[in-house]
Amino acid sequence: MTTELSLHGIRMSRLTGVRAIMHDIRQTQMAASNEPWINLSPGNPVILPEVEAMWRRLTREVADSKEFGEVVCRYGESQGYPPLLDAVVELFNNTYGWGITQDNVLITPGSQSSLFTAANCFCGINAKGKLRRLLLPTTPDYTGYDGICLNEEALLSVPPEIEIIDAHTFKYGVDFNKLHIDDTIGAVMFSRPCNPSGNVIRTEEVERIIALAHAHDVPVFIDAAYGPPFPNLAFAPIEPFRGDNVVYSMSLSKAGLPGERIGIVIGPSRYLDIMRAFLTNAVLHSSRFGQAIVARAIASGELVKVSHAVIGPYYRKKFELMRSLMAASMPAIDWYLHKFEGALFAWLWLKELPITDLELYDEIKKERVFAVPGSFFFPGSDPHWKHRGECLRISLTASDEEITNGVAAIARVAARLYKTAKSSARSAAG
Ligand code: PLP
Repeated sequence: MTTELSLHGIRMSRLTGVRAIMHDIRQTQMAASNEPWINLSPGNPVILPEVEAMWRRLTREVADSKEFGEVVCRYGESQGYPPLLDAVVELFNNTYGWGITQDNVLITPGSQSSLFTAANCFCGINAKGKLRRLLLPTTPDYTGYDGICLNEEALLSVPPEIEIIDAHTFKYGVDFNKLHIDDTIGAVMFSRPCNPSGNVIRTEEVERIIALAHAHDVPVFIDAAYGPPFPNLAFAPIEPFRGDNVVYSMSLSKAGLPGERIGIVIGPSRYLDIMRAFLTNAVLHSSRFGQAIVARAIASGELVKVSHAVIGPYYRKKFELMRSLMAASMPAIDWYLHKFEGALFAWLWLKELPITDLELYDEIKKERVFAVPGSFFFPGSDPHWKHRGECLRISLTASDEEITNGVAAIARVAARLYKTAKSSARSAAG
């Protein structure tokens, strides 16, 4: 017997493509567990000793405190644990002069849940029976956006402009000739810095998106899972955004706390009240223990400090290593890394790749290396667009040795593939 599912049940019981790759990676590693693999796929942050020590100490402090029973033995407010709301308000008012109050802050079980909530509160079929869509103003972008709309048709994305910066560096830009915001759009969403490309959408571009959306009273969700003030994996100074139609979404995950599931959303209360009610219906609230330790880390200033001093520099060094290895070992083909402006990945574009990115994944796997095929990061975009199938996301969470050997393997595979393609083209011509 098969259980009959609702349309939402069918949609939500499917795993998006990148999860299928992660499943393949786990299965492959388990099947050959005694042979070493180099895994350049993870989005899980590295457990950095200084960061782990901070969370361990704060965990002990909360466990030994008088408030412990109140924190973990009781339900709490859906909006969030009050000392955490206070700490966030104070941080943003002191650092950025925002003048926000607790009404402008909502704590969620990870930022995935706040983005899911936003997508389904503001997008989908509205009360007039019209489809309002979730607009991604550029792709590639976070693969997690692929599954967040209960209504499959709701996701819409715009291809980017591609700017070649130098022989082996490029950057995505927003193509405003193709970006249209009108009453068919329910919300706009993008990650900044971007997972997977490391792109930071330029300040002028963000301002222009916000203004276009404002004209139709459309909320803009800026997903700052890697942004400031923590984990601050942005390698040029960038500022958070606020505005009448802007919601700034943060996460504790890349600041070393993915297991506790804490997301923080800041924005106008007219949006946050709706999202809070949705979340109350779905999950009540986020873990109170996690919120209590985060409240201490923010209020003491430690989280911001550790983000600047430890987390950011760690990944920046990894990227520099990867770039120099690629420069030394890649064959003479048109290869480009996206300008590294943030997040935890290198984004490699192999122009005119003779096979698909999924086939490339298999070829690299033969070298006992995993990296993530890029096409999963183009949700809602034209499947025939060639660039979509020419990229690879390479995680910076591996050790130096793994990165060295992994890059060498990718360079070997690239050399082989382009050489074979060239000789087949020659024999076809001859
Ligand atoms: N947004 C982006 C851009 C991400 O990369 C991730 C996770 O990798 C998330 C949101 C979700 O993070 P979390 O739900 O752990 O806060």
